[in-house]
Amino acid sequence: MKREEAVLRELNLYPLWKRRGGAGTPADAPLQPAAQEPVVSPQPVEVASAPAAPDTAGERKEIISKLPWPELKALVRDCTACKLRAGCKQTVFGVGDEKADWLFVGEGPGADEDAKGEPFVGQAGKLLDNMLLSIKLKRGNNVYIANIVKCRPPNNRTPEGDEIATCLPYLHRQIALIQPKIIIALGKTAATSLLERDATLGSLRGKVHEFHGTPLIITYHPAYLLRTPQDKAKAWEDLRLAVKTAES
Ligand code: SF4
Repeated sequence: MKREEAVLRELNLYPLWKRRGGAGTPADAPLQPAAQEPVVSPQPVEVASAPAAPDTAGERKEIISKLPWPELKALVRDCTACKLRAGCKQTVFGVGDEKADWLFVGEGPGADEDAKGEPFVGQAGKLLDNMLLSIKLKRGNNVYIANIVKCRPPNNRTPEGDEIATCLPYLHRQIALIQPKIIIALGKTAATSLLERDATLGSLRGKVHEFHGTPLIITYHPAYLLRTPQDKAKAWEDLRLAVKTAES
């Protein structure tokens, strides 16, 4: 099976969609994947000392909001600010191009990510890579991938509100440093954490939101799509909206 066909099958998009009443055009068809396999390499963590511990949550946020990459990575590496740290092997900072136009944000590390120290590895990671390939992107090349929380929640449960609130300043700083052109939230936790309001994923997807002035597109988490493959077509619609938004 050709790589392109395999990617489209993975997304439940094979055979290719056709325009009603006529042959498909390049604008209708899913974008062609890049020829090469995605390069998956953990973001090297530069050695730096973590800043001194702040006294209050407000001070902590203020300090984090000014950190350059090396200190931010060091602070996350050594972080014990919430109860998630006690149950994980390591923090999972994020991976990719630190000047990327595209930022993908998931919920938190799972078992594979906790073991490897990189977000979106394992089956969900493979599907995310194929989603990237379907819009001519690949991990590490103009793409950065991060999570709302940097430590694995026990038994892969959803992170709790206090854990999200404690960890979110790290992601906010990552976003400020990367300055992406577009953010894709993968799943409800990522979406509602960035929007700072509760809503169903179904009510949020299909629209262009904003995170501090940056367009924010919301779609399903790859782990959900593995369990619910019938929604892959909707995820494809969301990716097309993201491409259109990034190009506009
Ligand atoms: Fe620190 Fe975030 Fe890990 Fe909590 S989840 S310990 S805030 S890095």
